[in-house]
Amino acid sequence: MYLLYPWGKATLIVCVAAAVLLLAGAIFFPPAAAASATDPFPDLYAGELPDYLPDEGKVVYYTFDDGPSQNTVAILDTLREKGVKATFFVTAQQTDNVDSASVLRRIVQEGHSIGVHTYTHDYREIYADVESYLEDFQKIRQHITEITGEAPVIFRFPGGSMKNSYAAPGVQQAIREEMTRRGFVYYDWNVVSGDDKSQMVDTDTLVRNILSGAKGKDKVIILCHDDAMRRSTAEAVGPVIDALSEQGYRFERLTEQVKPIRMGEAG
Ligand SMILES: [Zn+2]
Repeated sequence: MYLLYPWGKATLIVCVAAAVLLLAGAIFFPPAAAASATDPFPDLYAGELPDYLPDEGKVVYYTFDDGPSQNTVAILDTLREKGVKATFFVTAQQTDNVDSASVLRRIVQEGHSIGVHTYTHDYREIYADVESYLEDFQKIRQHITEITGEAPVIFRFPGGSMKNSYAAPGVQQAIREEMTRRGFVYYDWNVVSGDDKSQMVDTDTLVRNILSGAKGKDKVIILCHDDAMRRSTAEAVGPVIDALSEQGYRFERLTEQVKPIRMGEAG
């Protein structure tokens, strides 16, 4: 036998060596190769994050979700009049009689922060799984970038980052981790205006809610909703700025350098 097939043994050794090398390669190099080959959102990365800046003094971050709406212009007018910068977590909703593209541009031009909220705001759809969330996020981020030239890094989860009744906790945790891995920074809030009811809440009540929520806090992130039926949210902006300024707060916009306030995380 060996005389008839003189290369048999050598071939066997070569084959075994090759198989060992292939196996070693598969063990040591697969994750990076697999991830880049299968990532359906290769452009959805925010890049290297700078370190958070240290918190200093009494500061308020006024945030508005869900716009643009019929009320955004009124909010922007008051912010301009008061010389205050705020943060808008926007959607792609089309609202009657609102040129949302020009509103989005004005937000950026006047020096406010623009962040991603959601394209559809359909909880069942976006929180179905990680890929559905990323798909929605990519759509709204592209929409904002095309209109304003800015690619947002900051965002706010619809319903907040935790305890969302539509998202399974495991799914939402996986989404949080994936978004963080991609370099995006999310913000919840620690003061609610109470403007999320099914009917409009009067202006005085909103102002009162915000002032009592801010009591005793040095760093305040106020949650408000910028949509068509909530005119009082816009009307409350002036009185809130006046009252909190008088208490020694300064108003700033959120950027990815501001250490987030998040549900379920201490201070
Ligand atoms: Zn929302």
